[in-house]
Amino acid sequence: KINDRYVQVIFGSDLDEKVLLLIDQTPMRKYENLKKNFIANASHELKTPLAALKISLETLEDVCRRNERAIKYIKKAQERIEYMEQLIEDLITLSLLESTNLTLKPKKLKLLPIINSITSHLMEIAEKRGITFSVNVDENTEVCADRKLLHAALKNLIDNAVKYNRDGGRVEITYIKHQNEDEVRVCDTGVGIPKSHIPFIFERFYRVEKSRSRKMGGTGLGLSIVKLAVEKLGGKVRVESEEGKGSCFSIILPRRCGIISTDD
Ligand code: ADP
Repeated sequence: KINDRYVQVIFGSDLDEKVLLLIDQTPMRKYENLKKNFIANASHELKTPLAALKISLETLEDVCRRNERAIKYIKKAQERIEYMEQLIEDLITLSLLESTNLTLKPKKLKLLPIINSITSHLMEIAEKRGITFSVNVDENTEVCADRKLLHAALKNLIDNAVKYNRDGGRVEITYIKHQNEDEVRVCDTGVGIPKSHIPFIFERFYRVEKSRSRKMGGTGLGLSIVKLAVEKLGGKVRVESEEGKGSCFSIILPRRCGIISTDD
């Protein structure tokens, strides 16, 4: 950043010449910020009519209580609304994570209560499909993170581990202590991910099997939120998967806590 302008500096050299290229990226930055603000504002604006629609449908459900056919269509509309609500929430989270002047103050957080609050929200869906959770995290284990970001990343990973599991399957959440890093590993016994798709799964709206994701209420934004949130915390995400057997996603975080400013 030079005098309020964002300048990209590229340096190249060979034996005879040296080249220094300065590219003023300020207009591009402004455009990017406008785009991000637009997405965040539009998403917030969509919340109000959607909430009104939800109330109208609840009233309609009451009125049509004896009409099975009508109820069937009302339920379908309610499912679509739930999907749109999730999509709006995910878009808001993404634009927040992308905002350039986000300053985070990661601190030591107890890991187990965060995991327990996520699994307890998923318990009903998991129980219906006979899926069990196995949590290998000591109650004193702490990691260095921002609570909201860590919660968002873990929620999306554990949610996927349930969504893409087989009925009667297992979700295993394990903490592994490394020399300077902490790893939280979420493994499932589900459908797995074909190797050729793995490089793309963190892209926005990328789905291996669109119909399965939609059926499970997936927005296609979960893993891009995970990647962005973990990178904001100075960490990285790893994935190992075998088709038909299951997948393991790892969040690896640096242990040292400090202020992370993304206003570069
Ligand atoms: P979605 O909302 O569709 O789940 P995500 O961004 O969370 O979107 O994931 C992208 C795609 O990666 C999913 O549609 C799915 O095909 C695949 N995927 C993610 N997690 C898993 C998993 N644990 N097991 C198998 N496939 C997965």
